[in-house]
Amino acid sequence: RIAYVNGQYVRHSEAAVHVEDRGFQFADGVYEVCEVRQGLIVDLTRHLDRLDRSLGELKMTSPMSRAALAFVIREVLRRNRVRNGIFYLQVTRGVARRDHFFPANDTPPTIAITAKSTDPSVAAKKYASGIRVITVPENRWDRVDIKTVGLLPNVLAKQQAREAGAQDAIFVDRDGIVMEGASSNVWIVTPGGELVTRPAEHGILKGITRTTLLDVAAKLGLRVAEREFKVGEMLAAREVFFTSATGICVPIVEIDGKPVANGHPGTISASIRDAFFDIAEKTPI
Ligand code: PLP
Repeated sequence: RIAYVNGQYVRHSEAAVHVEDRGFQFADGVYEVCEVRQGLIVDLTRHLDRLDRSLGELKMTSPMSRAALAFVIREVLRRNRVRNGIFYLQVTRGVARRDHFFPANDTPPTIAITAKSTDPSVAAKKYASGIRVITVPENRWDRVDIKTVGLLPNVLAKQQAREAGAQDAIFVDRDGIVMEGASSNVWIVTPGGELVTRPAEHGILKGITRTTLLDVAAKLGLRVAEREFKVGEMLAAREVFFTSATGICVPIVEIDGKPVANGHPGTISASIRDAFFDIAEKTPI
């Protein structure tokens, strides 16, 4: 495997950053994960738009132009012969002697891009069987709308889920309002057939898959509401599912040990998933 690090293509096993990198010291960095399917990058423009936003919110400079970035991403995918998989892109505030204050303005950001192939049949199995989740108290900082590499609460939530015999976790605030998954956004289908996801202005990461799924739902003529919902409404839903770049409508069939509806994946999330790839933006590698 090949990775791109600060201007060079290197063997993945030897790809490294400095111990004084601010990503390592302070989680002072941002990232993106984007899906590749059938040799096409899904929703690249929206992912790069969000990267720009994340960098801007942290007053970080972009390591290179949009065109150069898109070129390097595609080159990393080509060199790794990815047709189905993902690329991962991370930008940090660079290398500087450890000090909380931002380093000098001319400190170059660190950029690393990796890519890997994934087996579509693994995702297919997840779609067919659905997953079990637990709810956990929201304990993250206030700026989860920025896609930073500071993911410790998410890591702990996922691990807690695994130790509880589940596969993933959903953050719930102290009023019982559903926030989002540990690495995904949450949707429900109400008993009346309405598709609901919470607003993304604050309190969650505005998922790219979420945004595109709203386009898909509109095209399919589904009734959609962006509003908050509580755990009780989620447990009473006809369908509950996750979206993320690596999981388009992953059905949730059990929450805190209780089945969702009849405990099997639903049909509405499946039909949205089927339409998703056609409607999403696709960039050839
Ligand atoms: N929410 C969180 C906390 C995430 O980490 C992610 C993706 O990693 C998402 C939501 C979904 O975002 P996207 O659809 O852009 O992958």
